[in-house]
Amino acid sequence: MVDASAVLRQGLLQLSKSDQVRSVIEKAPVSRSVVKRFVPGDATADAVRAAGELAATGRLTTIDYLGEDTLDLAQAQATRDAYLALLSALSDAGLTQGGRSEVSVKLSAVGQYLPGDGEKIALEHAREICEAAARAGTTVTLDMEDHTTTDSTLQVLRELRQDFPWVGAVLQAYLHRTEADCRDLAAAGSRVRLCKGAYKEPESVAFQAKEDVDRSYVRCLKVLMAGEGYPMVASHDPRLVEIAGALAAKHGRAADSFEYQMLYGIRPEEQRRIADRGDQMRVYIPYGEEWYGYLMRRMAERPANTMFFLRGLATK
Ligand code: FAD
Repeated sequence: MVDASAVLRQGLLQLSKSDQVRSVIEKAPVSRSVVKRFVPGDATADAVRAAGELAATGRLTTIDYLGEDTLDLAQAQATRDAYLALLSALSDAGLTQGGRSEVSVKLSAVGQYLPGDGEKIALEHAREICEAAARAGTTVTLDMEDHTTTDSTLQVLRELRQDFPWVGAVLQAYLHRTEADCRDLAAAGSRVRLCKGAYKEPESVAFQAKEDVDRSYVRCLKVLMAGEGYPMVASHDPRLVEIAGALAAKHGRAADSFEYQMLYGIRPEEQRRIADRGDQMRVYIPYGEEWYGYLMRRMAERPANTMFFLRGLATK
């Protein structure tokens, strides 16, 4: 039997790479107001305002300047500069102490795909962002992109951690390799965000069935919670959130030795409930003009998100 939601998901992930569809959607006059649910705005000030509002309700934040897959050095430098400006503005607003607001960086946005020295350039840009984070008293987490970049991203992580041991990484439960990567990274001082994974990946490297991804997520969580590192449980899935809490209790973890993470605009009541009960909840805030790929991945994850977008287009 054909699984309609799986077909929709694959289609939307395919469209997330289409420049033609991107240009139509970006130019639609109503898109911006609908996107606001997931992306608070284009400017640094919009991200700082959203982080301040979340801080006022006890939530931590990690902020992503939107952009990915750049093949243009000037663009990669501009992204680095946007992060430097963001960290300085967050610090000025008093939001960075103790890592309350940190940043999330996609290496492909700071040069990883540039021909020739891409990985080296991305490493240098990420290093400058880490230096600014250190000055501001906060941390950096490297987002994880499609599987062709996993080794390169983990290599950059290892190099950055020599100077900045607090740099975090993201591991994706849908990849077959991830349980082993969790074992490698479950050591003292290591910050690991575990998510299901958001890209279109082939069967050769990734579980395809939702149940298999969920089972892998639980196996990975067990490794991280039993280890000595700092697990960051990035999921909106109520079952996984509950299992994470039970595993943390089983291993006698204090509330400040792990955290939950969710995306801006998704399950906000649950975010507040978790923060209110005394656990750490960090919200991932994307901002900037390059929201197309991000939005398409959110729509692929959940038909309700697609309906929200289409309804917005129809009623505006
Ligand atoms: P899903 O399988 O999407 O949803 C499971 C259940 O959660 C649903 O059945 C429903 O009960 C509930 N739920 C989900 N969405 C909603 C909603 N809108 N409203 C109400 N209930 C809902 N992916 C990467 O590949 N690389 C990254 O670096 C990365 N970073 C991330 C950082 C954070 C903080 C988060 C939260 C996610 C990140 N992701 C990343 C995305 C991630 O991989 C998933 O694609 C995304 O989180 C959806 O998976 P899920 O675990 O929430 O579960």
